[in-house]
Amino acid sequence: MKTIYFDNNATTKVAEEVLEEMRPLFSELYGNPSSMHTFGGQMGRKIRRAREQVASLLGCEPSEIVFTSGGTESDNTAIEGTLAAAPNKRKIITTRVEHPAVLVACRELENHGYTVVELAVDKQGRLDLAELENEIDDDTVLVTIMYANNETGVVFPMDKIAELATGKNVVFHTDAVQAVGKIPLNISESRIDLLSLSGHKLHGPKGVGALYVRKGTRLSPFMLGGHQEAGRRAGTENVPGIVGLGKACELAAKNIAEENQKVKYLRDKLENALLENCPDCRLNGDKENRLPNTTNISFEYIEGEAILLMLDRYGICASSGSACTSGSLEPSHVLRAMGVPFTAAHGSIRFSLSRYNTGEEVDYTIEKMPEIINKLRELSPFVPK
Ligand code: PLP
Repeated sequence: MKTIYFDNNATTKVAEEVLEEMRPLFSELYGNPSSMHTFGGQMGRKIRRAREQVASLLGCEPSEIVFTSGGTESDNTAIEGTLAAAPNKRKIITTRVEHPAVLVACRELENHGYTVVELAVDKQGRLDLAELENEIDDDTVLVTIMYANNETGVVFPMDKIAELATGKNVVFHTDAVQAVGKIPLNISESRIDLLSLSGHKLHGPKGVGALYVRKGTRLSPFMLGGHQEAGRRAGTENVPGIVGLGKACELAAKNIAEENQKVKYLRDKLENALLENCPDCRLNGDKENRLPNTTNISFEYIEGEAILLMLDRYGICASSGSACTSGSLEPSHVLRAMGVPFTAAHGSIRFSLSRYNTGEEVDYTIEKMPEIINKLRELSPFVPK
C-alpha cells in the first residue's frame, strides 16, 4: 500500500538533492573541521557554504547563523542564553500556544525565580498585541513568541511583535521552526533578535537546526566546551547535517513561491471538501493568516485517535494535536487555549502538506474521509440522537 503523507509539520521527507550532498560526508569525507590538516579543513569550507545558504534564505549575514542540533536546542539556547546574559531581570513573556520546546523551558524557569507570562489567544488563535504591550515592563528580559503555530498553522504578526518588544529594549526571540521554508522571511527588514529553525521541517535531515543571532545581541553560550561556532555553540559540528540543512535552505529559497501556490491549492481543496462533505466539523485557527500547508479540522463526537487509526488503514498519515503530545489523552493545549470545546478538541485532525503531495492523494483522502467519519459516528455514544 502506498503511503500518503500529510504529516509534514511533524517531519518531512529528506529531499533527494539534500541526500546527494550529504552522502559523501558519511563515507569518504569524514574529517573533523577543527583539524589542522587539509582533509579536515575541507569540512570548514562546506560548513561556510551551508552558513551562506541558510543566511540567504533568511535574509541575514552568514555570521549571524549558529548551527545547533535542532529546533529544541535553538529554542532552549535563545531562552537560557538571553537570561544568562542579563541576570538582573526576571520576567519572560511568551504565549499559551508555544511548542513545548519553549513552553516547558519557560515553565521550568518559574522554579528558579522567574515570572513567566503566557499570553492568551482568541478563538481563532490570534494574540492581543495590546496585552503584550501592557505586559512588557522594566523587569522583562525576553519576549519569545512563535512565528507560526505547528498545530493550526496560524501565523502571528511578527514584524509588529518584534517592534513592540525591541522598541522597549527587550530581546525578542521567535520559534520559526514551522515558518522557515514555508513562507518567505526577510529578517534584515524585521527587528527579530533571535530566530530558531530546524532542518527536518523543510526537507532537510533530523538532528540539525540553527539559531539566528542578530549582530550585537547579548547571548551566553548554552553548550559549553570547545570553540566551535565562534565560541557560541561547543561540540564537533554535525557536518552532514549542516550541509544537508544548507542545501534544504537553498532549495526552499529557489522554489518557495511556486511551491506555496501548489501546496496551498491542494490544502484548500482538501479543506473545503472535508468541511463540505463531513457534517458537524469546524476549522480551527485563523483562516487568513495561516501557513499554506496546514489545516486543522475538528470532527465532533468522535476521537481524533480513532480517525487516525482508520486513516492509517488506507495508508494516510495525519496527526491529532502535535506529534509530541500524541500518546497523552489530554486534548491539545493549543486548541484548549483557543477555547475549542472539549468534544471538538478531542476530535481534531491536522493535515500538513508538502511539495511532494499530489492531487490524486488529496482526491483519495477526500473520498475516504466522509466514509471514516460516518462509520465512527455510528459507533459513538456521544452523537445526539
Ligand atoms: N518548535 C516548533 C514550532 C516545532 O513544531 C518543533 C517540532 O515539532 C520544534 C520546535 C522542535 O524542533 P526539533 O524537533 O528540531 O527539536
